[in-house]
Amino acid sequence: MPDTDLSAEITRRLHAVQARIHAAEARFNRPTGSVQLLAVSKRQPLAKLMAAQAAGQHAFGESYAQEGVEKQQALGSAQMMEWHFIGRVQSNKTRLIAEHFDWVHGLVSADHARRLGAQRPPERGPLQVCVQINFSGEMSKAGISPEQAAELCALIEHIPNVQLQGLMTLPAPNADFAAQRRPFAALRALRDQLSTATRPLPMLSMGMSADLEAAIAEGATMVRVGTALFGERAPA
Ligand SMILES: *Cc1c(COP(=O)(O)O)cnc(C)c1O
Repeated sequence: MPDTDLSAEITRRLHAVQARIHAAEARFNRPTGSVQLLAVSKRQPLAKLMAAQAAGQHAFGESYAQEGVEKQQALGSAQMMEWHFIGRVQSNKTRLIAEHFDWVHGLVSADHARRLGAQRPPERGPLQVCVQINFSGEMSKAGISPEQAAELCALIEHIPNVQLQGLMTLPAPNADFAAQRRPFAALRALRDQLSTATRPLPMLSMGMSADLEAAIAEGATMVRVGTALFGERAPA
């Protein structure tokens, strides 16, 4: 595909996803603009990220630290770019993540949070983090159980250079809208239960290409959208 076709295609897809988000905000009485779009660009070619960036998208999500850093270097920091690490955190990758990303969505251990905080360059400000919750029947094994969340949040709250922003979940695909809503409702309820005056937990990172409407209905503040924006990914 020539580059102009690719830009037109990505711009059209971006506008379509934005329209879905705005329609869901309106339908479920969410304030306009209350749901942010994270463009999930893992295993997508650089040309597609550049097209999305040119079309005004500035927040990108990557699941592999090294791949994410290479893309950051290629795209540059001109347009207030924001990079979110949404993959599984591994101990040998915490430095790369702490030095190069703005957000981490899938935090599951206090040990990882301590490493990230210790390795965070102070001039970058605190790393923004979400704790990943695994309700039953998830597609990946990542995430802690809801019962473990209070203890982990309390530990993370006191780690320097790490700012706990909220919760994230990644449910198994389900074609039924009511069924899609259930884990999202559970995540919001858990957030409401865990938030305190000193720890408001404003971020609910939930919803993907196939279920973003259900997530917005239940209070998502950020949807993580890959396929609907960029098309099918290269195999892992
Ligand atoms: C890949 C991925 C997504 C995007 O999924 P799509 O179905 O392509 O929109 C969202 N969140 C996480 C954590 C992912 O790994």
